[in-house]
Amino acid sequence: MGATENSDIGTCLSEAELCPDDLLKGQEEAFARDIERLQRRASEFVAVVCPACGAESGAKAFDKSGFTYRRCSDCATIYMSPRPSETVMADYYANSENYAYWAKYIFPASEESRREKIHKPWLQRVVGYCESYGVTRGTLLEVGPGFGTFSSIAAESGAFKRVVAVEPTPELAKACRSRGIEVINRRIEDLSGEVAGADVVVAFEVIEHLFEPRRFLKSLYPIAAPGGLVVLSCPNGQGFDIAMLGAGALAVDAEHVNLFNPASLAKLMRSVGFEVLRSHTPGRLDAEFVREAALAGRIALDAFLQRVLVDEWDEHGWPFQQFLARQGLSSHMWIVARRPR
Ligand SMILES: [Zn+2]
Repeated sequence: MGATENSDIGTCLSEAELCPDDLLKGQEEAFARDIERLQRRASEFVAVVCPACGAESGAKAFDKSGFTYRRCSDCATIYMSPRPSETVMADYYANSENYAYWAKYIFPASEESRREKIHKPWLQRVVGYCESYGVTRGTLLEVGPGFGTFSSIAAESGAFKRVVAVEPTPELAKACRSRGIEVINRRIEDLSGEVAGADVVVAFEVIEHLFEPRRFLKSLYPIAAPGGLVVLSCPNGQGFDIAMLGAGALAVDAEHVNLFNPASLAKLMRSVGFEVLRSHTPGRLDAEFVREAALAGRIALDAFLQRVLVDEWDEHGWPFQQFLARQGLSSHMWIVARRPR
């Protein structure tokens, strides 16, 4: 891994650019109602083994909102077990107040900064992978496009000949279609040849939500062309803010049932046949999350971190974040794999 490529995390980002402060409360309340609704079906939750390596030896890491998270003693993946069954999860997402609130308020208020600060740099990164690994920019397939911000940027850019989004939720598929994106309104598992041979398959912030991530990866395999790339992003359960804040980390929530780490996700991808080309942790928010927790009195920092993250934040905050990202220590990770030729 080249140092230059590895330190490519772009410009400084702050949480307020992604979710305006005045909307946070409404979103938190909607999410709390979703969680209550989910907890009412706790009797339908299912105990699982480690979603990355299959080990059964996960000891409890922490509880949050009534859910139990375990840490695999073999691969350190943090995972919710017992977890909502697939039926319960499908109902949760179909009726989520949080997503409705997000769609109505947060998305319109923050899309412009998300486009500029997140999705455009992500497209550049994906194009960079194509160049690094000699992959043709024919078809780009996005799994789980949400409202279609990334796919629309990719389509407008002309960086790929064809951009296709696969989205099972009808309202989201409709939102994508209204922006001119080619959409297949189906689950990735149910595709039947429409896009076999994608040069690049991307799934941003998807795999941490899935009941059975291995099956998802298996379903991506035949969709990617031989030699094609699969690019995933997700939280890194071994990253700085999760390590510091534990259950208090934002990434630990009722929807994130799998918190992989670069090594454990690589292992899982190899086990379904992919060749893992690289992983890195280009996160930009760990230091800010930990700083905010300290400022709010939720955690106590030792004298050194108090200096770096609070007293001398303007001087050290962003360089410290860049250090975390470069060294594989941020809580946001990317992995790039290839279907062998
Ligand atoms: Zn494991």
